[in-house]
Amino acid sequence: MIIRMKKSATQDDIRKVEERIQNAGLKASVSCGESLTIIGVIGDVTLLSPGLIEEIPGVESIMRVSKPYKLISKEFNPNPREVRVRGLKIIDGTFTIIAGPCAVESRTQMIESAKIVKEIGCEILRGGAFKPRTSPYDFQGLGEEGLKYLKEAADLTGLPMITEVTGSDKVDLIAEYADILQVGTRNMRSYDLLKQIGKATAGTSKAVLLKRGDNATIDEFLNAAEYIAKEGNENIILCLRGIRTFECAKYVRNTADIGIIPIIKQETGLPVIFDPSHSAGKRDLVLSYSLAAVAAGADGLMVETHYSPETAMCDGKQSLNAKELDQTVRMSRHIFSELSKFKAKC
Ligand code: PEP
Ligand code: MN
Repeated sequence: MIIRMKKSATQDDIRKVEERIQNAGLKASVSCGESLTIIGVIGDVTLLSPGLIEEIPGVESIMRVSKPYKLISKEFNPNPREVRVRGLKIIDGTFTIIAGPCAVESRTQMIESAKIVKEIGCEILRGGAFKPRTSPYDFQGLGEEGLKYLKEAADLTGLPMITEVTGSDKVDLIAEYADILQVGTRNMRSYDLLKQIGKATAGTSKAVLLKRGDNATIDEFLNAAEYIAKEGNENIILCLRGIRTFECAKYVRNTADIGIIPIIKQETGLPVIFDPSHSAGKRDLVLSYSLAAVAAGADGLMVETHYSPETAMCDGKQSLNAKELDQTVRMSRHIFSELSKFKAKC
């Protein structure tokens, strides 16, 4: 249920609405936009009589939320959602680039990578300490040792850091090190993990980046984000990274799902970023995919980079070297800034 307040509503009116919601054993979520205050009701709304709310003077209207993903929906909260990570604001209208190697391979590799990422002007450092690999014989990551290198590299450069949580047993450990906890495509449907991450990061400054499952529908993807939000953390960044189609493997690793960026943005105010590396699977496609994502309205990118892609232990084929990353970042930002200017004029 959503309660829309009149422009003339006073703080007292808002407080009365909150009180009546709480008296019914439900939770109120107040969001104040520039000209609009909306109060969302969380819980079993049949316990709340609409008449009790309607009679409060500042109430304009009451609506039922039709979406299953309530907390993150635009219906519930039409304002753009700001995700804050160590003073960095990620929100519609800003452009954030996450870059770094697929996997943490060594202390030197991570520190050198972080320096490149920082020098090129990316905002967030990535790196996998625990790697979900298709083959059990492939490099599985350095584990906690990798987290330590990541943290050292992040502290050295002052960049916030993101790394993937591959299982429930790693949530608390990773939350000790990372600013953003990543849920990978394989785990988008691990509902217990989503709940655990939501709970562990609720009320903290940690954000969660959720990747779309490679065969997940838009509704399934948004419901997965709702699992995290429902546990108390709405600091969520959505990340598209391509999906499986008949076209995958030979020419591309995954089919770029750039076309749904505007749909996701119609449905939720959460920031949406695009990962061209895991979509393309090939270095020479990453630039075009990045620019296409910017044009489609992405709020940022997550790009894999390596100081020596040829020798990378994981995803070297799709990793950009420093020069390629620099070009991708510069061109993407240029398109983003021109588009923003153009949109402001229209
Ligand atoms: C990654 O970002 O390192 C990764 C494994 O990506 P995905 O979950 O999209 O495959
Ligand atoms: Mn990778």
